[in-house]
Amino acid sequence: MNNTDDKDKKDDGFCMMCRRRSSEVGPLVTVPPGITVCHSCMQDMMNQAMRLFREQHITPETSEPKVTEPADKSGDKPAAEESAEEKKDDPKTDDADEKKSDREKGDSFGIPFGGIRFILPEMMQNNNARVKPKKKPKEEELPDVMDIANLPVPHEIKARLDEYVIGQEHAKKVMSVAVYNHYKRVRRQEEEAFRDDVVIEKSNMLMIGPTGCGKTYLVQTLARLLNVPLAITDATSLTEAGYIGDDVESVLSKLLAAADNDVERAEHGIVFIDEIDKIAKKKNTTSRDVSGESVQQGLLKLLEGADVEVPVGASSKNAMVPQTTLNTKNILFICGGAFPGLDEIVKTRLTKSFTMGFNAHLKDSFDNDPDLLSKTTMEDLREYGMIPEFIGRLPMVFALRGLDKEAMKRILTEPKNAILKQYQKLLAMDEVKLEFDESALDVIAEQAVARDTGARALRSIIEEFMLDIMYEIPKDDTIGTVTITGDYILGKGAPIIGIRA
Ligand code: ADP
Repeated sequence: MNNTDDKDKKDDGFCMMCRRRSSEVGPLVTVPPGITVCHSCMQDMMNQAMRLFREQHITPETSEPKVTEPADKSGDKPAAEESAEEKKDDPKTDDADEKKSDREKGDSFGIPFGGIRFILPEMMQNNNARVKPKKKPKEEELPDVMDIANLPVPHEIKARLDEYVIGQEHAKKVMSVAVYNHYKRVRRQEEEAFRDDVVIEKSNMLMIGPTGCGKTYLVQTLARLLNVPLAITDATSLTEAGYIGDDVESVLSKLLAAADNDVERAEHGIVFIDEIDKIAKKKNTTSRDVSGESVQQGLLKLLEGADVEVPVGASSKNAMVPQTTLNTKNILFICGGAFPGLDEIVKTRLTKSFTMGFNAHLKDSFDNDPDLLSKTTMEDLREYGMIPEFIGRLPMVFALRGLDKEAMKRILTEPKNAILKQYQKLLAMDEVKLEFDESALDVIAEQAVARDTGARALRSIIEEFMLDIMYEIPKDDTIGTVTITGDYILGKGAPIIGIRA
């Protein structure tokens, strides 16, 4: 841009817009490729350009300018779209773009007029957003997920579960085998050559174990490691279709939602139905058992494998909700429950059979057997109130043990994401080393066992005494280490504080 700043009235030509001579209108501005314009016409043009820009690029809802590149002369697409597409194909351009000089960036920016570009203040504010397109956030990295199309063998699956779930060796073993067989069966079924082959039955599972022993956690860990969608539902919320409560199909809506409405992914997912013991057949009832036996009946076809109409994005069917069809034959169903009172049924059966004949046992010989539930048979579950067709569709039945003090101590420290490790990490961010001595672990574990809610109690116990630590420690930046002792948890002493070196 050349500005003839000569103030004397010599005639330099005329304004190509208003046709007045420079002796009349003052110095002219030369715009490439050689257009001469007077100051007042230049001002008019800029005002017009600004008005146009605001009309086209500033949305009324946000009053924020949409920063788009002006259309490139050579193509129809705006340059920003075009460059975004190029970047999609070639990630390297991202870096290359960053390396471009500001001048280069400026050359393709602004409202073009003749050979120059006008840059408005609004465009400058958003210049950064334009120059550096937001990178798509990377998907959460799960370095340790397994591929269900190429599943590791059962002992490898169990080894992965071991990293997170403490104890419950039998349950982890059964689950690893069941999951391995299930996805092997799915793969085989999907291969055309094996369509008419021997039909392998589904390995749906039933887990029996007291509250807080890790039933849900096992399933969650498994689904995360397998990278398959998981829906967790509570059997108590289900009722027979037509009654108040959720229809059994609602579990599939949840699964579909967990799979981001991807039907194929949902069809390879896992459904966990908790509190399954609550839908046992009601005894001595004359009214219709809409939340017990009827729910078991309703679940039969899902467990077996059927095409089910599922509402998309809602838990109940109605005319306004779009529906899709989900086939459940490859969905793995895992049911879990505490089955209170089942141990008595098992004990009675065992005592009855052992009190006869030469192997007669004393009546109370099973009273303190911690493995009593692992001796559960189909007959016991029938006696409990589960209908035979329902149990028949859950071929893998296994029990989990209640957690003892030793297991609790290990849960505190050993899993990859152990709760104490989480607190240690939090304080390490303040450069404080947090430690728990053996007596502290003993006290926490004992208190957790006493609460009788399984490992769930651990977090609440820890949170109670950690509140003060998390509040006080960051106040004093001379503190380098904090050791929690059993006495501190019991309110009999203070934590051991070490000063920073
Ligand atoms: P439930 O058996 O009632 O389904 P959960 O699986 O929900 O119990 O357990 C509650 C919490 O306790 C889990 O989120 C997990 O952090 C912890 N937990 C329970 N059992 C174990 C275990 N065996 N190993 C590690 N953590 C466990």
